[in-house]
Amino acid sequence: MDRYRLKRDAAGRPSVDCPVRGSELLRHPVYAKGTAFPKEERVAFGLEGLLPSKVATLDEQARRMYASIVRKPEPLEKFIGLAALQERNETLYFRVLLDHIEEFLPIVYTPTVGQACREFSRIFRRARGIWITPEHRGRVAEVLSYAPFEDVRLVVVTDNARILGLGDQGAGGMGIPIGKLSLYTAAAGIPPWQTLPISLDVGTDNESLLADEFYLGYRERRLRGPAYDALVEEFVEALKALFPRALLQWEDFKDNAFDLLERYRGRVCSFNDDIQGTAAMAVAGIVAGTRVSGIPLAEQRMVLLGAGAAGVGIARLLRATLERAGVSGDALRQAVACVDIEGLLVDDAPPASAHKRDFAWPAALAERLGLGTGQRDLLSVVRAVKPTVLVGTSGQPGTFTEAVVREMAAHRERPVILPMSNPTSQSEATPEDLIRWTRGRGLIATGSPFEPVTFEGRRFVIGQGNNAFVFPGVGLGAIVCEARAVTDGMFQAAADRLALEVQESDLAAGSLFPRVSELRRVTAVIAEAVVREATASGVAGRAIDAAAVPAAVRDAMWEPDYVPLNPV
Ligand code: NAD
Repeated sequence: MDRYRLKRDAAGRPSVDCPVRGSELLRHPVYAKGTAFPKEERVAFGLEGLLPSKVATLDEQARRMYASIVRKPEPLEKFIGLAALQERNETLYFRVLLDHIEEFLPIVYTPTVGQACREFSRIFRRARGIWITPEHRGRVAEVLSYAPFEDVRLVVVTDNARILGLGDQGAGGMGIPIGKLSLYTAAAGIPPWQTLPISLDVGTDNESLLADEFYLGYRERRLRGPAYDALVEEFVEALKALFPRALLQWEDFKDNAFDLLERYRGRVCSFNDDIQGTAAMAVAGIVAGTRVSGIPLAEQRMVLLGAGAAGVGIARLLRATLERAGVSGDALRQAVACVDIEGLLVDDAPPASAHKRDFAWPAALAERLGLGTGQRDLLSVVRAVKPTVLVGTSGQPGTFTEAVVREMAAHRERPVILPMSNPTSQSEATPEDLIRWTRGRGLIATGSPFEPVTFEGRRFVIGQGNNAFVFPGVGLGAIVCEARAVTDGMFQAAADRLALEVQESDLAAGSLFPRVSELRRVTAVIAEAVVREATASGVAGRAIDAAAVPAAVRDAMWEPDYVPLNPV
């Protein structure tokens, strides 16, 4: 493993020790500068004659690369072009990504990353990250030790079971940890050599992948039960031993997402973004929405469709937020209604999983509102509850029907409607339909990006409820203060801060979230809030004076720029 050593001289000028030279250096994605290698480095590192004569600047390279990527007509082609750039030159890749984050977020993340995951075995070029399969049992530490860099601070791991709303994608799910870590670097400035994407490729139950001659993953049915648990346990222990400073993000697990989070959050500094990050993002949007509707938080009525990792995560944080606003007892229970595939969760038909049971309404409450057995579909629930907020995390397109939305809009002047499911194809409804059905009164935000909508001469900007507004700031904050754990309070702090970052101009344009172009700035202030909360709750491993927090956060944020290389 390489230890990337960034140094600063007395005047604060950075340089880095570089252990490779010649053509190997040209191909090394972290040390590479391509045509921007200055003359003296070309001499010192044996690059003379290996490059054309001109010494380009990073800015020139970035403009040239941008032009060549945007020329590609298809989003997947752009994805492949950007991935290839990342394989060649990380600094240039992140410069281009950061300079065009609004344009390229939908490429490196939802929706295009979903397509890339599906077509993984066809578009695969160069491996990135670590795959751990059942064949590595007993040797996971050895496999992890082959990671390219030594000082790993951030790991995103998936078992590929539920990739976006696309189900089991087998080894193709690796696109998600890679994409998320790209966002961490772009938004939070976590240096690429401190990140490590990992796929627990425990097999797949996706029949079309198993039957595909080109499938590159571990071609077995999913490992389950004790053998699966043992592999995850071995992975976590190996990770702690090898990378003791790493923060672990659980990503796109399915039915075991809650169990894994609870089992490990006290043992390794970790969180689950689908459960906790999504929640902070959604709660921020809902809180921002109260500024437009004028209905105080304590009087909000929420209906959530899809009580999986994201839905229950949102329900939990909503409850905590409402409690803080003074809501308690029955009113608190009634304020959040969760509807899953079989209808409203009610305790006379208790759901199998404990995390869903927590949100089951008492049967008496359901009966009182006319929601007896057999009358618990979404439309009936909306009719009975008259929600101010409707959130979709079902992964099922078309589930916010015209009847449901018109019913909601009949009772609420400014209904907040958040179809959060990704990618675009899985959104519970399109913004265009939602705006039409609510006659322009709906406050809409979607999980995947959508174009602005024009209705009766007015233009509506569709805010993106992307948890990219949350996890980079939480991760950065946790890393900066060397948190021993990531607490729910840190996500609450992130939600509070994100809600404050929604400007009046965003709300006036119909958006419940900041512009994606604000991502880096918003991430920094969220990280500050997270550091303060971690410090206040005693989980920070590094004491940072309150006044020094903004500088500590900014100092930790890597800027994609070339630094002089020292031969070693
Ligand atoms: P999950 O599999 O844990 O949960 C999905 C839930 O929806 C399950 O409980 C399932 O029973 C339920 N469901 C399925 N069909 C339904 C239907 N027709 N009606 C009601 N409920 C139904 O998945 P998850 O991690 O919760 O993710 C769900 C969706 O949310 C995905 O599309 C994912 O991409 C999206 N998501 C978006 C963001 C974001 O930032 N916008 C973040 C996380 C997840």
